[in-house]
Amino acid sequence: MRIGFIGLGAMGEPMAARLAGAGYALAVHDADPVRTARIAAALGARAAATPAEAAADSDCLVTMLPSSAVVAAVLEGPAGVLAGLPPGALIVEMSSGVPEETRKLAGLCAEKSVTLIDAPVSGGVPRARTGTLTIMAGGDAAAIDRAEPMLNAMGNAIQRTGPVGSAHAMKALNNLVSAGGFLIGIEALLIGARFGLDPALMVDVLNASTGMNNSTQKKFRQFVLSRRFDSGFGLDLMVKDLGIALGVADATATPAPFASLCRALWAGAQVHLGPGQDHTAMAKLSELMAGTILADAADGADEA
Ligand code: NAD
Repeated sequence: MRIGFIGLGAMGEPMAARLAGAGYALAVHDADPVRTARIAAALGARAAATPAEAAADSDCLVTMLPSSAVVAAVLEGPAGVLAGLPPGALIVEMSSGVPEETRKLAGLCAEKSVTLIDAPVSGGVPRARTGTLTIMAGGDAAAIDRAEPMLNAMGNAIQRTGPVGSAHAMKALNNLVSAGGFLIGIEALLIGARFGLDPALMVDVLNASTGMNNSTQKKFRQFVLSRRFDSGFGLDLMVKDLGIALGVADATATPAPFASLCRALWAGAQVHLGPGQDHTAMAKLSELMAGTILADAADGADEA
């Protein structure tokens, strides 16, 4: 199977590396030509100057891009994927996208005899590197079967979610739960710090108790208490995902008051901190509101 891979960012680069390592012939493309050239050389892949070039002669085309709007732009247009991809080929849309947009794109692809499935991922950069991502897959069962060997090079748990778009809905809802868990955990650390508890000790106790979640385990010590704020998942992307989750709530007329507040807080951090921040920098807004900085709390410092 020859694979075109578009979007070589924090996630796309290690995912493309897993495919190259599994022996697939790759053509790679990113909007940043320097990045494309560097990664193509490192992986022994063909560097494609346009999406159409990455798609030409491919059996399968993977997208790992910031948003559905970017995916649509990359698929359509004179130098887009659909201008280069042979009929009968498969598009595996691995970005975190908007279910309704994905369904529209799948319809557009079908007109060109191309099948699109959505296959967003969870696990972040560390699990992209080790090929142990969770991959949610939505769409035609036979198309997912076709993609499965290639998906297995990038992930170790493929979860079939239903028709096309369903995996994108699932991914956004996963990130809603993750975002909520991060926020409530940081609030607990701040309350504890102001009470006099050591935040690092609190993380240990939470991780041995029922308050444990992915943020207490993999984010608080590593990226917040360390003040590194470099998990590799952007704040802008998290806010986008929360918007998608709220869109699904609206479309299904589901009351979601916690989700609305959660999104408002994350969006507030984006406004406060500006673009290009890591999502773990969200803690800085909670710290500002509490007047306490978590890394300093153990020393008794008490200002923001
Ligand atoms: P990123 O910003 O690091 O990378 C995106 C890449 O897309 C960049 O290299 C950028 O140059 C390229 N790009 C942008 N517009 C383009 C265009 N028109 N044509 C070609 N390339 C273009 O983002 P990321 O962290 O790799 O995330 C990619 C997707 O995966 C997002 O949808 C995100 O929500 C999702 N995701 C990210 C993580 C994570 O931990 N970073 C985890 C799970 C899912």
